[in-house]
Amino acid sequence: MSSSMMGKKIGETCIVCEQQKETGIHLYTSFICEDCEKDMVLTDTNDPKYKYYIERLKMVTYKQNIS
Ligand SMILES: [Zn+2]
Repeated sequence: MSSSMMGKKIGETCIVCEQQKETGIHLYTSFICEDCEKDMVLTDTNDPKYKYYIERLKMVTYKQNIS
C-alpha cells in the first residue's frame, strides 16, 4: 500500500456501504472498504449491526456458489 490516493483510480464499490472506495480488502470477488472492515472488526457479535454485515457477506458467498 503506497501513497497513490490522489484520485486517478475510481476505486471499487464496497458491498457493505455501497460506496466507491479506494482502500479495502477483497473477499472472494467482492470488495469491502477499509472503513467497513474496521467497523466490522470492532462491532460486537451481539450487535444487530454485526448481523447486517454478516448478511451482506452471505449474499456475496451465495452469489459465488450459484455462478
Ligand atoms: Zn464500505
